[in-house]
Amino acid sequence: MAEPRVPGSRDSALELPCGEHADTHDLHLGMREFDCACGGTHAVVLDPHPLARFVPEFLVEVLQATVEPSDDHDEFTTVHLLGVVMEEFPDSVAVADTSEDGAVGYSMAWVTEFDSRRLHEIVVELLVELMEHAVSHAEDDAVMDEFEAQMLEFDVATFVDEYRAERDFEDRHDSAV
Ligand SMILES: [Zn+2]
Repeated sequence: MAEPRVPGSRDSALELPCGEHADTHDLHLGMREFDCACGGTHAVVLDPHPLARFVPEFLVEVLQATVEPSDDHDEFTTVHLLGVVMEEFPDSVAVADTSEDGAVGYSMAWVTEFDSRRLHEIVVELLVELMEHAVSHAEDDAVMDEFEAQMLEFDVATFVDEYRAERDFEDRHDSAV
């Protein structure tokens, strides 16, 4: 943490749920998790990460068509998703607002107590719940039928394994399948 502070920037030290600290200047878009001094591995999410990091495009579409964010955003985004994760696990997520820090390529960072595999499962479970709720209120029967058909086949752990295997998470230019 000996980096000189850029005038006007916030402190780049982020206190983690485990009690250790991370430097937000060390986080970057290609990072999905890191090994911590506490011995654990913590997942990292940055606001430019697309929802497709966690779920395939068809689910992103259902999500954005059916779930209305509570703020004035038009669409559900990664920021909203992490808001939901924080509501469920308030003591397991550290968040940094880096929007004033010109030294990093993102404006929000979240670091979770659990690793990126576990976060992925949690996220998929929460998204499925959100969508089930939203789709049950949707007017559009076609969306509902499609969703229910997809969900009949859906197993979270299997999905996460397959989705992670299909995508190269080490590549910062990772894109949706
Ligand atoms: Zn730690």
